[in-house]
Amino acid sequence: MPRPLFATIHLDSMQHNLSQARTCAPSARIWAVVKADAYGHGLERAMRGFATADGLALVEQDAALRLRELGWIKPILLLEGFFEAADLPQLGEHNISTAVHCIEQIKMLEYTPLYRPIDVYLKMNTGMNRLGFRPHEYAAAYERLRAIRDVRSITHMTHFANADELEHPRLTIGEQVRCFREGAGDLAGERSLSNSGGVLHQAELAEQLSNDWVRPGIMLYGGTPGGRSAAEFGLRPTMTLRSEVIGIQEIAQGETVGYGSRFEAPGPMKIGVVACGYADGYPRSAPHGTPVIIDGVRTTLVGRVSMDMMTVDLTPIPNARVGSKVTLWGDGLPIDEVAHAAGTIGYELMCALAPRVRVTEGRLGSDG
Ligand SMILES: *Cc1c(COP(=O)(O)O)cnc(C)c1O
Repeated sequence: MPRPLFATIHLDSMQHNLSQARTCAPSARIWAVVKADAYGHGLERAMRGFATADGLALVEQDAALRLRELGWIKPILLLEGFFEAADLPQLGEHNISTAVHCIEQIKMLEYTPLYRPIDVYLKMNTGMNRLGFRPHEYAAAYERLRAIRDVRSITHMTHFANADELEHPRLTIGEQVRCFREGAGDLAGERSLSNSGGVLHQAELAEQLSNDWVRPGIMLYGGTPGGRSAAEFGLRPTMTLRSEVIGIQEIAQGETVGYGSRFEAPGPMKIGVVACGYADGYPRSAPHGTPVIIDGVRTTLVGRVSMDMMTVDLTPIPNARVGSKVTLWGDGLPIDEVAHAAGTIGYELMCALAPRVRVTEGRLGSDG
């Protein structure tokens, strides 16, 4: 018998969330973002779950080639672009579009012949200060790209730093959009600005924000970039992590639990031991009080998460036994809520799901 820990991926929720993205940004085409093994969901599964997306965007060139092997014939975009000239011919050969964010990449495109022309996303740094050309350098980069024979089209692109908060005190979407407009001016080409935050707030931002292509990631996996809950936006969980109680301890007042003896029982109580630990991707930083569901009832973590196990308070579930079902996140327990309790974000929990966790597929609401 394998350990009773497994992650169930809900392809039906992935389809549903994609249609929510379409509803938010009805006039845009959608790049479903599938980097990092589709945020831990598996590339091949994402290809099926997002079959109706207009394209798939990611950062790993080997995964892009794998998508072609798997039969994905619609557009593919490399969000960080390529890293050396030797990578370029493959992009032409497999019709993979690429971001271009620095002058070094333009030079490589200038001296490397491709087998076939490719579409380029020219990235502008509008305040995130990670990748991209500054607005005053942008038109020159554009003209230089335009002169390259193997560049078929140029789409203007930028990325939001604070798309989850409309009124961020340091840098708002509105400021970034204004900066983008200044830099890209009337240059010909399509535009791509919004990540999940931008898509979810498209209605409020309609005046300022128009996209030919949007690039949602986390919302397609039933999370939000921050602030409001996924359910408020009609998004559904796409990954449920489940395990079982594998041991029970009845302890007396004053006894402690786990490494570091961090939890002390305030009275006699039952402790459940659950087969899931930080080597499975559950965050070790999750403190006492982080929510878990046992046999459908919410309770909390107690003590420290260890490598293969964690301990939970069974007080609200008097009938709990070895074999009781545990939900760690997903169906019935938003991943963002668990992440928040652990001081991180849903993105990190999904991406950190460890290879040793068995993955299955099942509809949301089924037992997986
Ligand atoms: C990861 C990424 C996205 C998706 O971001 P979410 O917050 O997950 O929606 C969009 N655009 C770029 C350039 C990215 O790297």
